[in-house]
Amino acid sequence: MRIAVLGTGQLARMMALEGIAMGVEFSFLKTPGEDSRCVEHLGCVVEASAGDSAAQIYALLGKPDVVTTEKEGVSVVDYEQFLPYCAVSPPAKAVWLTQNRLREKNFLNDQGVPTAAYKPADTLAQVTSAAQALGFPVIVKTQENGYDGKGQWWLDSVADITKMHGDEASGPWLLEKVVPFEREVSVVAARSANGEVAVYPISENVHKNGILLTSFVPVVQISASQAAEVNAHITRIMQELEYVGVLSMECFVTAQGIVANELAPRVHNSGHWTQSAMPASQFEQHVRAILNWPLAPTQMTGAAGMLNLLGVAVEPSAVLKPRHALHWYGKAVRPGRKVGHINITAPTPEALREQLKQLESDVYA
Ligand code: AMP
Repeated sequence: MRIAVLGTGQLARMMALEGIAMGVEFSFLKTPGEDSRCVEHLGCVVEASAGDSAAQIYALLGKPDVVTTEKEGVSVVDYEQFLPYCAVSPPAKAVWLTQNRLREKNFLNDQGVPTAAYKPADTLAQVTSAAQALGFPVIVKTQENGYDGKGQWWLDSVADITKMHGDEASGPWLLEKVVPFEREVSVVAARSANGEVAVYPISENVHKNGILLTSFVPVVQISASQAAEVNAHITRIMQELEYVGVLSMECFVTAQGIVANELAPRVHNSGHWTQSAMPASQFEQHVRAILNWPLAPTQMTGAAGMLNLLGVAVEPSAVLKPRHALHWYGKAVRPGRKVGHINITAPTPEALREQLKQLESDVYA
């Protein structure tokens, strides 16, 4: 069995590390200039040349059984070109939907999944009128290519639109009414081609400067009915898309209920804790799903969490405690860059929070 991954980052790395343990071979397709250190020695890294046909790239990738992706920012045409030769999972439609925030929000609403109120805008004049129609405060996001909080402006009033001056060319945008959330959570789930679905417990996520810093489970403040709502939403979305692989959904928990923020058609940073706390991590689960193997169970006891290593290297002997697991991606350390993470397991949510806080201060002291 061979899986080809579009992308050569840490998500591809962790997928391959799990798959290789199960006897699966990997190859990786990189874009020109893409750093492939994360997947060094894990399989053949292919860089297509302009003019290579799909058949040629498929052959260079070693004729995989499945092509998958570690990122939503792939050209849908480049992704779909493998369909005559092998399975392409998750489906290209899911990738296409999540590449554009307007398409994604329309889809979520069509599926009955609540989102922030939103309006599109192509010009700054339209930003003004859309913001007035929604009511301030609003967040303006580029419809495409925004990630980790980039390409976003928080507007409290019409006067704040001056913040966007100089960025007029970054549109079209999507305006969203600010959601007064209690916490940010996410859910990671998998569906295999035969329709089997497995949903991991919901995690709470804390961001710093727009980048995920920690995730932890269980979310003790979320009610059973809210958790069931999140599970029902992601299950319905996967069924609707005939999704195969791991899908992630970020949500806000509000006094009025669950509000979905965005989907990611892939394994997700907020699901890394599954490596330490689950019979199968999200990476193994993705491999199992796209190869149509039985999915692993997703019930857990105890508590688990993850701290992202953002632009910091750690000295394992100084920082790691017995229930800590270090995952290092093999990248050069640059400020703010995700270079690794540490997973923690603990018997109770309280003990977990305490240890996560301690670890954060040890790492970022
Ligand atoms: P995003 O790029 O959509 O994931 O947004 C990045 C972060 O901005 C989220 O994790 C939230 O903290 C915040 N955010 C995004 N959209 C909203 C919203 N409509 N209301 C409140 N906060 C938001």
